[in-house]
Amino acid sequence: MNTLHLSDTTEDIKAAAAILRDGGLVAMPTETVYGLAANALDGDAVRRIFEAKGRPMDNPLIVHVAEFSDIRRLGLVAEIPYLARMLAEAFWPGPLTVIMKKGGAIPDEVSAGLDTVAIRIPSHPAAHRLLATSGLALAAPSANTSGKPSPTTAQHVIDDMDGRIEAVLDGGSCSVGVESTVITLVADVPRILRPGIITREELEAVIGPVEVDHAVLHQLENNERASSPGMKYKHYAPRARVILLRGDDAKYITYVNRLYARDQSIGAICYDEDKPLLNAPCITIGSMQDEKAQAQALFDALRAADGLTGVKTVYAHCPAAQGVGMALYNRLIRAAAFEVIDLPKKRIIGLTGQTGAGKSEVSRLLSERGLPVVSADAAARRAVEDSEVKAMLCAAFGDVLREDGSLDRSLVARIAFSSREMTARLNAITHPTIARLMLEEAQALPGDTVIFDASQLFESGEDLFCERIVGVLADAEIRLRRITKRDGISREEAALRMSAQYDERFFLTYCDDILYNNGTEQALSDGVRNLYEGLVRG
Ligand code: AMP
Ligand code: MG
Repeated sequence: MNTLHLSDTTEDIKAAAAILRDGGLVAMPTETVYGLAANALDGDAVRRIFEAKGRPMDNPLIVHVAEFSDIRRLGLVAEIPYLARMLAEAFWPGPLTVIMKKGGAIPDEVSAGLDTVAIRIPSHPAAHRLLATSGLALAAPSANTSGKPSPTTAQHVIDDMDGRIEAVLDGGSCSVGVESTVITLVADVPRILRPGIITREELEAVIGPVEVDHAVLHQLENNERASSPGMKYKHYAPRARVILLRGDDAKYITYVNRLYARDQSIGAICYDEDKPLLNAPCITIGSMQDEKAQAQALFDALRAADGLTGVKTVYAHCPAAQGVGMALYNRLIRAAAFEVIDLPKKRIIGLTGQTGAGKSEVSRLLSERGLPVVSADAAARRAVEDSEVKAMLCAAFGDVLREDGSLDRSLVARIAFSSREMTARLNAITHPTIARLMLEEAQALPGDTVIFDASQLFESGEDLFCERIVGVLADAEIRLRRITKRDGISREEAALRMSAQYDERFFLTYCDDILYNNGTEQALSDGVRNLYEGLVRG
């Protein structure tokens, strides 16, 4: 099929209206996103929308009309509730969709078998003219391939739909940028099923209490029923993996920069203010203060993420789920398939270093000065008590449990340290749980600063949460002597352990502070005092 590229001239709008009356599909601009329109009262035409988008047939469509009076005239709803009139008065034409009991004219394809129908009067002039000129009610979901980010420009539509639909009507880029707020009136209390730029607060100011459906902000469990079928699908997703980082702005920057330093296949979706602070390639969605600008830019940013060369994963700066931010959060968390990393609320200082250098001594001295220490070794011992971890260890290394069901740790150690590959396998299984336990422990401790004492700070990814990283180093010969004495092992064995670790250059590159512990106890405690004072000063 040859897709016509139309503009918003009277002549082109007439052509588009004729296509729609003949049962064809036209992508039309609206103030929210581009919609893929068909005559809502023609079940065959509507079915073609689902085919063009690859949309699951159980996901109902929104019906658009030019005027409020069209709702009754075309028999779209069974009755018009009083609250619908109030909402129409306040918000139509505009980015609000109202769900009511459906009327006899609505084909099953539109309502996807539900007994309700979603209605909206768009404010975009081209959409309004197309509706008025055609005289039709138009069923129109977003004009993207199902699962992709919604289109906010005609080019986005062409990227997804060229050759699959009769025409695209170009009306420039959409001013709102996220889909309409969807509210159902078929409920005891009116309930938001999808947040948009018309916020809960604005709705409540007009009609009183409004609830927010659980699925707006949370992932549905497998057995949960979606009030709005669209909310159960993965959505808005670029090809790149999206992960949300939720927390303090400075911690977002630290996380992304630390990760980018060792993995150049990552990028960021962030605010304007983040960009000068980030080293990774990023796409900005507007100023932190301007949520409407963010909404307008969001889908374009998600599409643009795939244009960042070499970027496989994008880390998005998670918005607060309030006001217009609720709409942004709702879209982003679906783009991320609900993958969210919570950044710690505490200030975390990483303490790491070469074996035998004296990290434990530094940790003890810092703790004496009143800084709480979270030990990775202790967390590791608790991690292997976890039943999921034990199951994964058995899957990887065979039956490594004792008769009483506890882990045979020396057996695991023997297998895991037999080769680099086995060690990597052990780490992949235990590190995520160790990091989680450490973060939980940090959160429960008093004060705002916590030390993470971890020899594998970098290998485990715990470094990404650290505001500063302190590396304790010492000369090889000194460490060799200390290890042989401490652990009662041969020089050869000690050397083997040392060679399994990162070298000095690595620590010099990735740590923010370096403590050399080659000499006397006095030198070490002076170094720790300087470090402590630096940390306390911030
Ligand atoms: P789209 O047109 O792609 O933006 O999707 C329309 C959204 O409205 C989807 O999330 C649908 O599941 C939702 N929706 C449409 N009609 C109804 C309805 N009758 N009841 C509940 N949700 C609906
Ligand atoms: Mg959609």
